[in-house]
Order: sequence, then structure tokens, then C-alpha cells
Amino acid sequence: MFDIHNLYKAKSVADAIKLLSEHPEARLIAGGTDVLVKLRHFDDKFHHLVDIHDLPELKAVRLEGDTLALGAGLTFTETMNAPEVRKYIPVLGEASSTVAGPQIRNMGTIGGNIANGATSADTAAPMLVLEPEILINGPGGRRNVSIKGFHTGPGQVALEPGEVLGAFAFDLKALKGLGAAYYKYAMRSAMDIATIGCAAGVKMEGDKVADLRLALTVAAPTPIRCPAAEAAGIGQSLTESTMKKILDALETDIKPRTSWRASKEFRTRIIKTLAERMIYAAANRSGEGA
Ligand SMILES: Cc1cc2nc3c(=O)[nH]c(=O)nc-3n(C[C@H](O)[C@H](O)[C@H](O)COP(=O)(O)OP(=O)(O)OC[C@H]3O[C@@H](n4cnc5c(N)ncnc54)[C@H](O)[C@@H]3O)c2cc1C
Repeated sequence: MFDIHNLYKAKSVADAIKLLSEHPEARLIAGGTDVLVKLRHFDDKFHHLVDIHDLPELKAVRLEGDTLALGAGLTFTETMNAPEVRKYIPVLGEASSTVAGPQIRNMGTIGGNIANGATSADTAAPMLVLEPEILINGPGGRRNVSIKGFHTGPGQVALEPGEVLGAFAFDLKALKGLGAAYYKYAMRSAMDIATIGCAAGVKMEGDKVADLRLALTVAAPTPIRCPAAEAAGIGQSLTESTMKKILDALETDIKPRTSWRASKEFRTRIIKTLAERMIYAAANRSGEGA
């Protein structure tokens, strides 16, 4: 049994915001795949819940002009199967398909994955590469923030009390020409969180790297972009010597730690191996869609 004291079912996003302001002790529950585990571990922040599971507003996929907006309430399965994701940002679908197993993918949402703030979140690395604006609804109205800087610490994100993450808005014009790839290294091929996750985005112009975006999970206390590694590659030909410079620079971007899953040294080795592979994979897809 879960120790839930109150469960308030929201009828809309506006209703969820109202319920959160009426019950400031309450927290949102979407798919519940993180919340229920926390309840099991006696996290008393989650005794009072506002349920936003299945709100149609949070399930919308909207393509308007050059902007593709994905509702935060889309499950991993819905994200993987959305034709717009497959066409414009397939890397997000690829990452969603690596999460756990079908049961969790059918319940867990992309909004919950990012709002939960875990450094291991599988959608975090491709999100950091794709750079969506995060659309937030709250008691003070709406605001947009960048995914870059949204993760503020272990398990912490830039959401204020009472706010609901509404959608991720991708600027398809800015992504034109970018190829992207994601790989999750885990101890098991299913039902395991990442030992390291790595996403790369590369845009080639001729034989030069016009844009390079590299993001990692579990390489630091939060999911990260790798500015030093990116700077070492941009404007260069993708030769072995450039790759060596990228991987050397990468050491200043990362802060892996030793845990029961893997040592710091092993993680560092995996990070470099994945970064190299994902950069080449993304470069091969340059021009095909991120
Ligand atoms: C067995 C198992 C295996 C798992 N494997 C993986 C894995 O391989 N990869 C991975 O990345 N994760 C994994 N997870 C973690 C989890 O499934 C994901 O993080 C999932 O995306 C959480 O989404 P949810 O909708 O279930 O969130 P919930 O549990 O409902 O909520 C998570 C947090 O986000 C907040 N929240 C949810 N939606 C919103 C919103 N719209 N606005 C503001 N705050 C919100 C909640 O208040 C809560 O703090 C696993 C979990 C389990 C139980």
C-alpha cells in the first residue's frame, strides 16, 4: 500500500494550478513511475498529490510554422510513436525507446522525466542537444525557459512551487541540417537506468563541423552539455586529431563519480567511447533531421 493522504484529480492545467495553490503541501503526479517509488521510500513530500495524468492539454503534439510543441504529459510510448517526432526529432524517440520496459514506457511521461531532475533521465541528453524552450504554467501566468540551465542540482529543476511544466517547444528552423544520435550504456539491456547516456548533434558544412552539441547523463550531478568539447570541434574537419582534441577537452566538462554501478575511471572511459561514437553517428546523419 502507498501512504497517500489526499489525491486531487485535476480537470485541466488551470485546475491543477488552482489545486496546488489551495493545497501547497501537494505535489504533482503524472505517470507516477518516480512519485510512487519515492512514496515507497517514505519521501513525505508526496503524501498529498494533484493528479495530472491523462490531461488532454498535456498530451498535445502541435506543429505550427517552424515550432514543434510536445505536451509534457506524453508518455515515452506516445513520444516514440508520434509521426512528428519520427520525422523531425527522431533522437528523442530513440532515447524514449531505451527507457525501462513497455509498462514504464506506457506510464512514464517526458515531462515527469525532466521535472524529476535525475541525472540519469534518458530524455535529458537529447533534450539538451535539441534545445527546446520549456513552457511553464503557474499562478503568475506563463513563462518560457531554456532547457539549458533547467537542471539546477541533483533532483532539482527550475520550477517554482505551484508550477506545471506544460510542453517542450522545438525550433525546427534552428535544428535544420543537424544530425543527432543517442546511446544509453547500462548494465542490462532493459529495465536499467543509464550508467552513462550520451547524445550528440552535428551539422556538417562541407568537411567542416558547423555545429556540435554534446550532452551527457550520469557524467555529473545533473545532465550536462559539454562546452569545452564542443568548442574543440566546431569549425574543424572531423579528423582523428580533431576527435582527440574533443575528447581531451571533454575531461574538463565532466565530473563522474564512483558508485556501486561503476567507478569514476570506468565511467570516464565509457564517456569518451560514447562521445566519439555518437559524434561520428550524428555527423553521418547530418542533413537528415535531428
Ligand atoms: C522500474 C522503473 C524503471 C525506470 N527506468 C527508467 C529508465 O530506464 N530511464 C529513465 O530515464 N527513467 C526511468 N525510470 C524513472 C521514471 O520512469 C521516469 O523518470 C519517468 O519519466 C517519470 O515520469 P512520470 O510521468 O511517471 O513522473 P511522476 O512520477 O508522475 O513525477 C515525477 C516528478 O515530476 C513531477 N512532475 C511530473 N509531471 C510534471 C509536470 N507536467 N510539471 C511539473 N512537474 C511534474 C512530479 O511532481 C514528480 O516530482 C524508471 C522508473 C521505474 C519505476
